[in-house]
Parts: sequence; C-alpha cells; structure tokens
Amino acid sequence: MKAVTWHGRNDIRTTEVPDARIEDERDVVIRVTASGICGSDLHIMTGAAPAMRHGDVIGHEPMGVVEEVGSAVTRLAKGDRVVVPFTLACGRCFFCASTRFSLCDNTNPNAEMAQKQMGHTPSGMLGYTHMLGGYAGGQAEALRVPFADRTGPIKVPEDLSDDRVVLLSDIFPTGYMAAENCDIQEGETVAVWGCGPVAQFVMQSAWMLGAGRVIAIDRVPERLEMARTHGRAETIDFSQEDVYERLQEMTGGRGPDCCVDGVGAENHAGGLVADTLEDAKTALHLGSDRPNVLNEIIRCCRKGGKVSCPGVYFGKVDLAWGAAMNKGLQFKMGQTHVQRYLEPLMQKVVDGEIDPSFVITHHASLDEAPAAYDRFKNKTDGCIKVVLTP
Ligand code: NAD
Ligand code: ZN
Repeated sequence: MKAVTWHGRNDIRTTEVPDARIEDERDVVIRVTASGICGSDLHIMTGAAPAMRHGDVIGHEPMGVVEEVGSAVTRLAKGDRVVVPFTLACGRCFFCASTRFSLCDNTNPNAEMAQKQMGHTPSGMLGYTHMLGGYAGGQAEALRVPFADRTGPIKVPEDLSDDRVVLLSDIFPTGYMAAENCDIQEGETVAVWGCGPVAQFVMQSAWMLGAGRVIAIDRVPERLEMARTHGRAETIDFSQEDVYERLQEMTGGRGPDCCVDGVGAENHAGGLVADTLEDAKTALHLGSDRPNVLNEIIRCCRKGGKVSCPGVYFGKVDLAWGAAMNKGLQFKMGQTHVQRYLEPLMQKVVDGEIDPSFVITHHASLDEAPAAYDRFKNKTDGCIKVVLTP
C-alpha cells in the first residue's frame, strides 16, 4: 500500500510499504479517508524528535472506514466510519482508569528505551517515534489500530463530513485540554503563543471555558488573521512588536492570567522551522535576542498565573525556573488524553457549536504529501492545516 514515510531530516517520501493487517485480536484495520499533517509531524520531519527510523510511516490524525476487526473487538464492526485518537490506551490500567490515556502503562512495547531516555513510559502513539512505540501511522491508504477493544476509534455520524470530524483525532482535543489546563476563571485573559492549528483550537476552547479576553501571538499574517476572525483574538505580531511590552500595556501592567505555549520545541525558533537543530540554536541564541517561548511566558505571565503547554518538547530546555518559582506560576502540560474528549467534543460538532474544518486550508493526495509538508513547514501559500485524502 501507499504511505508517507520518513527517511532522515527533511526527507519525507511517498512510498510502497507492506499492507496494514490484523496482528493481534484487539486490532482493527481501517481504510483511511482523511489524515491530518500536524506540527508534531514537523518535529519528526526536521529530526528534532529522536528515535525515528528510515522508512517509518508517519501520521497520527486519521479517520476512515473499518475494514477488518480482530476477534476481541466487539465495539466496532466492518463498515463503521470512525475517527481515531492518536494515543493508544489499554483502557484497563491505573492511568486509563483516571482518563490519563496518554500515560497508559500497557501500549508502548519500547518501554525499556523510553525508560532509559525519558525515565518513564508514555503510552504508545500512532505514527510517532520508537520511543512512543514505533507504530506505523495513518498517512497511508490503510492503518492498523491496536488496542481498539476498550478505547480508541469512535463512530462518526453519517451526516458529518470528514473535514468536520477528522481533527477530533488530535488538535481539537489538544487545544481543548490546553485551555482546560489553564483552569480559566470567568472573564480571565488568556494569551496564546502561536497561531498554528493547535493554538487556533486553544482560542476556540478558551472562549468555551469562560475566557473574557484572548490574545494571540505569531508572525505569520494568515495565521494572525485567522486568530482575529475565527478566534476572536486580539493579536500581537512578534516580528513587529515587543511581546512583553505589548502584553503589559494590554493588561494594565499585570500580565495575562493564563499563558499557553502553542509552539513547542526550539526547531520552531523565531517562527520558522529551522532545517537543523543547529540552525534553531542559532536563531534562538545568536541570530536573535528573543527568548524561547517558555521563558517569554515566564516573563509575561502575571504573578500567580497559570501556564499551559501543549507544545511538544524533547530533552532538556533552559528555563528561568527561579523566576517561575518566585512568581508562583502554575504549570500543566502533556500529550493529550484524546479519548477523554472524543465524545463531548464530537457532541459540540453535532450540535453545531463549532465546525473544526475552519482551520483546514489545504487538501492533498498521498503523492502530494512531500510538497504539502514543505508548504506547511514553510507556511507558504497561506497554508495553516493540511488534510491528506488517501
Ligand atoms: P505549527 O508549527 O503549525 O504552529 C506553530 C506556530 O507557532 C506557527 O504558526 C509559528 O509561526 C508560531 N511560532 C513560532 N515561534 C513562535 C514564537 N516565538 N512566538 C509565537 N509564535 C511562534 O504547529 P501546530 O500543529 O499548531 O502544533 C503546535 C505545537 O503543538 C507543536 O509543538 C506540536 O508538536 C504540538 N502538539 C502537541 C500535542 C499534544 O498532545 N500535546 C498534539 C498536537 C500538537
Ligand atoms: Zn498531531
């Protein structure tokens, strides 16, 4: 079958790989109809995410039609149209029982590697690095979804188009959890770093959860524009204005109550995805005097404020922890517990409270995927979110 595969830094190809098939009684196989490209895929593309192997199939934002069902799966049947959460969860362990699905104990076969590198074992995740299980991803004609017997894919109402529901696989829940992690009190000001696809859903969710004001920061004109129109945000273009000064001014010298890092690892430094980690470091520390996003947040957030970080990081980050401690900041972060949000957020789509497709600017076939990755990475052609249609 055809799939999007990783072949080293900035080398994404569409290749032939072995067909997805049932390998365990808890598996299902789906024929993929839509599959998002995510900012996390850019971390993979640029080589920032460790433990990728040449030929790995990427993609963790899929939906499609169930084609085959393992003998232990009774919650799904052949022909069901489903959206697939990127986190794999057993549904039985301590963490799944408390809906912390991305921390599931039992779905990562590379626990030893993860323990050694990170000191803990996260759940398995589709189309991600070998540290997260090394499962083949969903930017492909078909996808094996393991652990589908207790949680995982859920059925989609027939009258909702793929574009309306595919982003439930990741970024709508991710934006929602990031906003929830701010513990927003009625009327509070939420500042969001980044106006990428994830950040757009942080803005939507911040309003749903009671924000009184949303301020969004980026430098890409189309993304800032989307933040203003769809996200009803006031915006700061960080290439034109000093973010700290502007936020001080906008909040009467106090700083935002809640700050969200919707950007993540340093290969995004300065608003461009650097080609190599060395380039990123140059952009951060030599070529520009902008602090990394988390340090800028520590500086800007009000005393006793709340910081939420959906942005993905790898390894160590140089942080102004002393300032954060003395300011009494609270931090919450993590890979999204997608299963926790699937049904409630699907209901919001069904009820017409939100149409998540507003963020999708481009569609592409699997053959067009390498060009689509370049467009998404370089933010050309007004590209904000690409959905592949295998
Ligand atoms: P994206 O790359 O499209 O968006 C990042 C945005 O940040 C871009 O618009 C960029 O211009 C902007 N930016 C870069 N540097 C900046 C700075 N210094 N200040 C303000 N803005 C800046 O990616 P995305 O798809 O929106 O994903 C965003 C992050 O969320 C990534 O790190 C991704 O890995 C992560 N993510 C996390 C989860 C999770 O489960 N926690 C899920 C999905 C994505
Ligand atoms: Zn994603």
